[in-house]
Amino acid sequence: MIRNPKPIDIAFLISLLLASIIGTVTFFISEWEFVNTVIIFTLCFGLSFFLFFYTLEFFIYRKIKLIYKTIHSLKTQKYDAILKNFDWDKDPISEMNKEVIKWARDNKMEIDQLKKLADFRKEFLGNVSHELKTPIFNIQGYIHTLLDGAMEDPSVKIRFLEKAAKSADRLSDLVADLLAISQLESGELTMEKERFDITSMVKDVYEQLSNSKVNLLIKEGCNEPFYVFADKYRIRQVLVNLISNSIKYGNQNGTTTAAFYDMDENILIEIADNGSGIEQEHLNRIFERFYRIDKSRTKEGKEGGTGLGLSIVKHIIEAHQQTINVRSNLGEGTTFGFTLQKA
Ligand code: ADP
Repeated sequence: MIRNPKPIDIAFLISLLLASIIGTVTFFISEWEFVNTVIIFTLCFGLSFFLFFYTLEFFIYRKIKLIYKTIHSLKTQKYDAILKNFDWDKDPISEMNKEVIKWARDNKMEIDQLKKLADFRKEFLGNVSHELKTPIFNIQGYIHTLLDGAMEDPSVKIRFLEKAAKSADRLSDLVADLLAISQLESGELTMEKERFDITSMVKDVYEQLSNSKVNLLIKEGCNEPFYVFADKYRIRQVLVNLISNSIKYGNQNGTTTAAFYDMDENILIEIADNGSGIEQEHLNRIFERFYRIDKSRTKEGKEGGTGLGLSIVKHIIEAHQQTINVRSNLGEGTTFGFTLQKA
């Protein structure tokens, strides 16, 4: 059996079969007349071969080739090069079948991805407007109340202006975070890597964030320089985020401990607190944008951020081709660990 028969093979086989049948019938009808049989067989074979070959090649095969070419060029403009190199003798019918299935599958995947992106965009827009709404409404409310007469009372005036200023600061933080996220996600930001000591950077951030609520410590045995090769400004942003979270979500008189581990090619940096901890069901989601466990915090004007901090942190670490992870036990504390290239 010929695999992938071409029109010429099909025409040959059918003509042979037809000529053999007609030849045999002629042989019996003409009462064993051998010459007549050979003439009829040859004529029949020649004519039917010509007709079959012509029909298959020119009417069917070429048209299918044309459809195949059309599908190819429809799929993408870049297919010209592939078409030039395509082996047309292969068997266009089964090739076309394969291509159509592949095309349908690719299209479905593309549509699914577009749908997901559309949902994502809708959700993102909803989240952004929701986050912007609170501080804007607050500022609006305070200013209108002041204009409506509250300005006359000096103590109320100062209190309201302070509150409006706080909301304006929050608005500005939010916009700065959104800008950072969009730049990181679009890959616009390139990491400006340099060699620096991560231990002294942590100490520096500790000094900046020092407070009376949480003790900021370096783990015993880790108090020595650990040199990394990374973007100094961005890694500082990571540390500020992780350490301020450990303070925000830490207990009164709690501790935050930074530890460093030499992992041959990388340095592992861990920021551990003994605060409220995070439930397992939330652990996988805290790196998502706008994900906050206690959503009431910001509404009540209590401390609590935009829910963008950890998402920015993850983007920065991934832009360094490194990883970040978290482990936590409710009521016991949380540890964030990330790696950086060793210098
Ligand atoms: P936020 O701006 O709300 O702090 P993040 O992206 O920094 O947003 O954090 C997301 C959420 O993860 C926080 O709302 C908080 O619920 C939780 N979280 C982050 N760090 C800690 C931590 N050290 N301890 C407990 N919960 C934390």
